Amino acid sequence: MSQGFTLWFTGLSGAGKTTLTNELVPQLKARGVKIEVLDGDEVRTNLSKGLGFSKEDRDTNIRRIGYVARLLSRNGVGVIVAAISPYKEIRDEVRKDVEANGATFVEVFVQASLDTLVSRDVKGLYKKAIAGEIANFTGVSDPYEAPESPEILVSSDTETVAESAAKILDHLEENGLIQPAYFLAQQETEARFASAGEAQ
Ligand code: ADP
Repeated sequence: MSQGFTLWFTGLSGAGKTTLTNELVPQLKARGVKIEVLDGDEVRTNLSKGLGFSKEDRDTNIRRIGYVARLLSRNGVGVIVAAISPYKEIRDEVRKDVEANGATFVEVFVQASLDTLVSRDVKGLYKKAIAGEIANFTGVSDPYEAPESPEILVSSDTETVAESAAKILDHLEENGLIQPAYFLAQQETEARFASAGEAQ
């Protein structure tokens, strides 16, 4: 069984957490990793339905996500979490729990400047938040505590999606959490030769 890990994306709304997740999932699956995704928006419609955006509710939401991530990653699953997760203390708490369960926690800070996010405004939320129509909006009217020493920093201000994804795959590979692409190609070739040999 491969070693489980939690790949934890943190960053403001629209920074690129979901986009990078969608980019990485097929690539990780192609490397034989069992993958589960816990996306912040999706979790809020089921596991955390009814929770709001006060500090207390945000902390509860992140602790629930962390709990599921811990259960999965200790059983060899590669878990991707894509949630704003604005508070450092709770992210660090989840890190400790995951590591205490023998899995690896990889924090990825998906960085983008507020200027970029406002001009991008993927979900149309920044304009509303700036106009005061949405209360407790992270980065505008609610705090965001950036990680001080994330394992990986990606900047969607300056990098393409493919570049950011490659950085993450390289880190996972260098830390032995996924197998190198060439290794898998080699295994496939060996398997093909073996079955060709059996057929003779
Ligand atoms: P989040 O999940 O963090 O709220 P989204 O993934 O929904 O953010 O939106 C991010 C937007 O930024 C998308 O429109 C995406 O195409 C764009 N983008 C530009 N560069 C990058 C990058 N390097 N990584 C991720 N997204 C990027």
